[in-house]
Amino acid sequence: MLEVNHVTKKYGKNKACDDVSFCLEPGSLTVLLGPNGAGKSTIIKSIIGFLKYSGQITVNGIPNKTTEARRILGYIPELPSLYPTLTVIEHMEFIARAYKLTNYKERIDMLLERFEMADKKKKFGDELSKGMQQKLNLCIGLLPNPDILLLDEPMLGLDPHAIKELKNYIEEMRQAGKTMLISTHIIDSVDMLWDRTIIMQNGQVKANVARAEIEGQGKTLEELFFEVTEGIEASSVRTSEVDEQTDSKEETKAE
Ligand code: ADP
Repeated sequence: MLEVNHVTKKYGKNKACDDVSFCLEPGSLTVLLGPNGAGKSTIIKSIIGFLKYSGQITVNGIPNKTTEARRILGYIPELPSLYPTLTVIEHMEFIARAYKLTNYKERIDMLLERFEMADKKKKFGDELSKGMQQKLNLCIGLLPNPDILLLDEPMLGLDPHAIKELKNYIEEMRQAGKTMLISTHIIDSVDMLWDRTIIMQNGQVKANVARAEIEGQGKTLEELFFEVTEGIEASSVRTSEVDEQTDSKEETKAE
């Protein structure tokens, strides 16, 4: 279980994340939606331990910045940061050693094969096209096979084959009981099986809703998104979690 409690991250006076709270249930796939600048990357980078913030984040009860928690957490960043002088295979081996993986050669081959990078093994980081860099970025992030995986805009820059393969891979991880958080601002890219959606806007969580709840109301994810972010219709599908937060704020005010 990943728990994010009252996390606020400021850049100067700008609150990139403003009192953000949510949980990821074990084995669930949560889609993190929001317009550009909503705070999605900031909360993901906070969870992975890259940023300073106020509030608490725990992984199975352990603070997220500890070595123990970091072993459980995996991250695929939106933008690849590759080493220009390492080849594709050297990148993979470097990550395998950094994570002290054993018997990783087969797994490396499997990932490079699936994302059509097997024939690029000897290419250097700065010889790869943007799309190939994105695919290597994915292979690097998937290699350690963590229990909780955070994917920040993972479909960006991928070709149709890689998108299809990534969706298949995500489904396989779901079947294997992995917990995933996938951020995107492209609603159509998340037509795979997901369990819950969190919608952020202006640094705040505006909705946190189970799929069954949305479908029970006969709504599509897109309809919910515009309802929440543009107020096209009064939002009646906010979760008990968000409602409870509002209730408790009102109670506090009343006191
Ligand atoms: P999203 O991932 O939803 O597009 P971000 O988390 O990247 O949104 O950004 C949230 C807000 O924080 C935006 O207003 C953005 O301009 C600001 N922000 C993000 N990173 C930085 C940074 N390194 N320095 C200053 N402001 C930042």
